[in-house]
Amino acid sequence: MRKFQDRDTRIKLNDYWNKAGLIRKRNLEAWDDKQLQDESLRLQKEAKLGKPLDALMVDAYALVCETAKRALGLQPFNVQIIAGIALHESYLIEQHTGEGKTLSAVMPAYLNALTGQGVHVLTFNDYLAKRDAQWMGPIYRFLGLTVSYVQSGMKLPEKREAYAADITYVTAKEAGFDYLRDTIAFTSADTVHRPFHYVIVDEADSLLLDESRVPLVITGESDTSVSQGIIFAEIVRQLEEEKHYDFDEFGRNVYLNEGGAAEAELKLGCGNLYDPANSHELTLLNCALHVEVLLKKDVDYIVRDGQIELIEEYTGRVAENRYLPEGLQAALADKEGLQQQAGGKVLGTITLQHFISLYPKMCGMTATAHVSAMEFEEIYGLQVLQIPSNRPNNRIDYPHRIYTHREAKLQALVQEISSVHQTGRPILIGTSSVEESHLLANELSAADVSCQVLNAKNDAEEAEIVAKAGELGAVTVSTHMAGRGVDIRLGGGSLQQAEAVIKLGGLFVIGTQVNESMRIDNQLRGRAGRQGDPGTSVFFVSLEDEMMLRFGIHKAVRVTRQEEALIDPMLQRQIEHMQRMMIGQNFEMQQELNRYSDMIEDQRRILYEERLRILIGEQSMSPVEQRVRLFYIDEFWAEHLSYAAYLREGIHLEGLVSGSPIDEFHKQVAEAYEQIPDKMNEASASMLAKLEGSNDPEKWAEFGLKSPSSTRTYMVNDQYIQNKRSSWNTGTVVAYWIRKLLSLILRPVHKLPKM
Ligand code: ADP
Repeated sequence: MRKFQDRDTRIKLNDYWNKAGLIRKRNLEAWDDKQLQDESLRLQKEAKLGKPLDALMVDAYALVCETAKRALGLQPFNVQIIAGIALHESYLIEQHTGEGKTLSAVMPAYLNALTGQGVHVLTFNDYLAKRDAQWMGPIYRFLGLTVSYVQSGMKLPEKREAYAADITYVTAKEAGFDYLRDTIAFTSADTVHRPFHYVIVDEADSLLLDESRVPLVITGESDTSVSQGIIFAEIVRQLEEEKHYDFDEFGRNVYLNEGGAAEAELKLGCGNLYDPANSHELTLLNCALHVEVLLKKDVDYIVRDGQIELIEEYTGRVAENRYLPEGLQAALADKEGLQQQAGGKVLGTITLQHFISLYPKMCGMTATAHVSAMEFEEIYGLQVLQIPSNRPNNRIDYPHRIYTHREAKLQALVQEISSVHQTGRPILIGTSSVEESHLLANELSAADVSCQVLNAKNDAEEAEIVAKAGELGAVTVSTHMAGRGVDIRLGGGSLQQAEAVIKLGGLFVIGTQVNESMRIDNQLRGRAGRQGDPGTSVFFVSLEDEMMLRFGIHKAVRVTRQEEALIDPMLQRQIEHMQRMMIGQNFEMQQELNRYSDMIEDQRRILYEERLRILIGEQSMSPVEQRVRLFYIDEFWAEHLSYAAYLREGIHLEGLVSGSPIDEFHKQVAEAYEQIPDKMNEASASMLAKLEGSNDPEKWAEFGLKSPSSTRTYMVNDQYIQNKRSSWNTGTVVAYWIRKLLSLILRPVHKLPKM
């Protein structure tokens, strides 16, 4: 199989090399600016008349290459042209850090924007959206196209204008939030997006895989709610492992055992906890238990100014504007004894994966795609193509240095960093959490090595610090993915320094832990050895690292505690095997979650299309009828979402009794959805009668037919839903049935409530 793939890839790349040759041959050096611009006008005209873009590609790419040289002083490398062709042909390209993806993307963006239907380049953060639009802007503008960028917090007219540009750089989440806002707009003048056309996703592994399950949510006004959960927080605080609850084999999930359920029943005085009448209590209890034992303060979240802020799993950064699913968020507030902000009515929600799938044509680029090729293919139908690097790779990746315990690893790390630092060679250290980066920084300063710790909250500052990480003598301690999208130049831009750094061996990259995802490790490695530079990467691992404990590697290796590194080539292979297993496990988790959200997404699409038909005036309706219909679509959709969320929380209880939870969920959601049209017609007719055909917006408002006065958008950490759901594993099911049987047998004596 692999052989066939390699052969296909070779054939494809050969074809692209030939095309790149043709593009190069269209040497436009002798043309003056006006000739180039006239040529661009010709291409636009032909594209708008329907000439296939494939037929315009060679001319268009040749134009971009010549313009890039004149406007930016950059002559695209052949590999960049090849990357550009692959992006146009909807591939997910892997192109290493520093190879110039930003410029590669300009060619397909220009070509696909020729029709005037708009192209979006989705970036990793606001800073990169602005930087890339400003950096590449002169090329597009020279060729007569408009280019813009969106930042979160921009006002509606500004956004509208930005999305009206031929090419728009924007983060995926902002584009998604804007889409959600559009779905509840009452007039087309209040919408910002045009119909989607072509999207290029930058840092595609992060957005399309790591973040893809994250639901974006828009809610109406929020208020402060009174918590019911404090009592549950109190109960779980007193529970003990094994006696009251157990973990699954990977320690990802926790579930009450017999002892725990009995203890909770005693404290709550609620009778059998597994009685359907107690399903609400059981849900609250599970949420409380989950946050009590699985979420750790200052690791998974911090408390600042009376608010809970979640920490991103992959980066160790504070996740701005992100919350847990409602039940867990409330339980976490209870655990910390904080007042909680209720989310307000959910008006719309969409996962990043569904949002990005709304674009009829998509492609992506990243430095790390290959190891996740199967996921890209299965989820998005995207094939991964590895683009050769411009110059041969000169980076040396050393085998992991594995220690028996943490202290030995830390000591070895400090020693290694100190001795490399003495030579002046720049070092970049990737840690897995903010906490760990501070710990290491303290140790380094005790060893007289001063280092720069990234303040990961500030994207712009982060980019600047990472950009300087290649300077002579620089020691930069960062979280794992810091600086995605930012290039580390040896010598920080000074040629003289660069030469000195090259002599020292280039950038030295150290990972202080291997990550669950090999992609994240590769991201970090890829910071060294850009454009054929020399460089080195190595990971330090201890058998006491969280991941080693979780996967039982520490038990599998029977070695006595020692200060020196272990020499055992099998160990690294074992770790890599475990990482590969994780790819499969995470993929399955994602598929499972998708089964819940896919149906809601299909329903949403149908209803939204109906809404759009009413809004762009396709159905002949009086203004009042239009307003009433739109209003009720939103009302009933919000009600439907809330019902679906409720079902999802409790479905496992019912599911266990009557079959598979997912089938039960589908059945009930489908039934509820089918009732929407009738409910809508009825409510609309009654409202129209009350309004007596009035077209006066003031009267509409009097009857409540108005947009929410304010909305809030945020993201939900869906992985916790998964964890919670998975907590219904074999142990829980067995416990459930034992209790059910016991309750049947003992009912007459103990008067247990009816099941
Ligand atoms: P990536 O996103 O692939 O890591 P960037 O787009 O940030 O890379 O570009 C990395 C660096 O390479 C930038 O400093 C850019 O100016 C430079 N670069 C890109 N393309 C070229 C080119 N064709 N010629 C010279 N320098 C280039």
